[in-house]
Amino acid sequence: MIDFHCHLDLYPEPADIIRECSRRRMYVLSMTTTPSAWSMSSALAAGCDRIRTALGLHPQLAAERKSELSEFDRLLPETRYVGEVGLDGSPECSPFWRDQVEVFEHVLASCSAGGGRIISIHSRRAEGEVLSHLESYRQAGTMVLHWFSGSRQSLERAVGLGCWFSVGPSMLRTKKGRGLVESMPADRVLTESDGPFAKHDGCPVVPWDVQDAVLRLASMWRLSPGEAEERLLLNLRALLGSIRDGQT
Ligand code: MN
Repeated sequence: MIDFHCHLDLYPEPADIIRECSRRRMYVLSMTTTPSAWSMSSALAAGCDRIRTALGLHPQLAAERKSELSEFDRLLPETRYVGEVGLDGSPECSPFWRDQVEVFEHVLASCSAGGGRIISIHSRRAEGEVLSHLESYRQAGTMVLHWFSGSRQSLERAVGLGCWFSVGPSMLRTKKGRGLVESMPADRVLTESDGPFAKHDGCPVVPWDVQDAVLRLASMWRLSPGEAEERLLLNLRALLGSIRDGQT
């Protein structure tokens, strides 16, 4: 199983979650929300072959933490993965929209200068603006739009730009979400939990809850659950092959 977008360091007991992910031999990409959290967060998963930690600066923290952009640049050579980054157009985030844009542009420019990264991107209520930025920074790497919730039109635009998508159980539980996932190229889809932010029945989801997404994808793709897992693993391999710079 693959969880390509979660926040291991935000669980109350990350060590327990990491142990269970390892026991299940899961591939996990753990996000960070600030550059200063990266070192400790990646240390949590030290020695776990299938767990990687992305270097991020969450758009909701853009105003508060943009002073950490120099730390972002300092750490960037140490990882192939960037996230969570992006833009958030929700009313509570619009007062610092300019800080968000400044941070996102800085991140994309640094990734471009650094030869490209695999980037997990937040685009809530800002899909158009996110895609315009990705158009301007095509050298930034391979973009994975996490929990994409935009219009059918912006989805087509994202597909045209070569974006990938990580989709979770919460997204696949809604009719709109399923409609979007059905329109995504099956060879550019990965699973995600977005735990512990994402909740189900009031409880934070855990990485292995992606199993529910695998089952839903299987029926959507008219595959058996095993075949869907296989498809997702092939996708993961193709994605990792898209950035070859000798880093892990
Ligand atoms: Mn997230």
